[in-house]
Amino acid sequence: MKTVTFRNGVTVPALGMGTWNVGDTPQKRLKEIESLRAGIEAGLKVIDTAEMYGAGRSEKLVGEAISDCRDEVFLVSKVLPSNASYEGTLRACTRSLRHLGVERLDLYLLHWVGGEPLEETIRAFQTLEEDGLIGAWGVSNFDVAEMDEVHSVSDDCAANQILYSLEHRGVEFDLLRRDREAGVVTMAYSPLGQGGALLQQSALAQVAMKHETSLGPATPAQIALAFVLRGNNVLAIPKAGQVEHVRYNIAAQEINLSVEDIAVLDRAFPPPRRKLSLAMI
Ligand code: NDP
Repeated sequence: MKTVTFRNGVTVPALGMGTWNVGDTPQKRLKEIESLRAGIEAGLKVIDTAEMYGAGRSEKLVGEAISDCRDEVFLVSKVLPSNASYEGTLRACTRSLRHLGVERLDLYLLHWVGGEPLEETIRAFQTLEEDGLIGAWGVSNFDVAEMDEVHSVSDDCAANQILYSLEHRGVEFDLLRRDREAGVVTMAYSPLGQGGALLQQSALAQVAMKHETSLGPATPAQIALAFVLRGNNVLAIPKAGQVEHVRYNIAAQEINLSVEDIAVLDRAFPPPRRKLSLAMI
């Protein structure tokens, strides 16, 4: 398994699991819990959630899934920008810990750039770290200029969680490199294009035909994931509510894309030639 290392020295597998919309549909709960547990058992340490997801429902489902294996998981949650004042961040973190049923988050992120002064949010993150309630802090949906602002306040930002997939390659122009050079891990969200049109693109099927994994012929989704995972310093967090999808995502790590494969993908999803504003969902 490929890994990434955060600036505090903690190393985790470069493939984790997202949980947006997880816990929203009562009929899907058991399957979703089963999927997360299958991932954990197979060594996928990182679970990403947020106070926003289902207004706490995602955090509660994650809490249930990890109740007997908390120490095997690297837990990430996020504070909403509207809650990200100094006091608001402390309160939001306490609430997330309660929803999750844990004593500590491994990584706590500011969900996107908001109206509260960044200094306040970072000061709250520092307090939470000193109090042992979080292991590290970072941001999400921050472009280059916004990262510069973070670095002007503190050198300790551990991660920037951003939209990165074949459909959204703008960050290859500058942000991926800038974050890597600054020691900030990139967490790639929606790497499968949310399971939508991306996976129907013929270029993905064309590349998939050339690859095998231990589960059999490669799938377009596995190629989309292998593409995001090919770089260093990138931690991908696809969401899978079905055990079978978790298993295919894990097997995607066996795929090494060749120069010819990348050329096919570049033609269908051209890399950026100039600065593009960071896209977000
Ligand atoms: P993804 O790109 O991860 O796509 C999820 C969809 O892909 C689901 O419908 C899932 O189906 C399907 N899928 C998963 N694995 C496979 C597979 N092997 N083959 C075919 N289909 C598959 O979208 P998300 O938007 O969920 O992004 C991932 C995570 O990133 C989120 O869950 C969240 O944690 C985070 N995120 C963060 C944001 C931020 O602002 N910081 C914004 C958006 C997402 P099924 O569930 O049925 O298995």
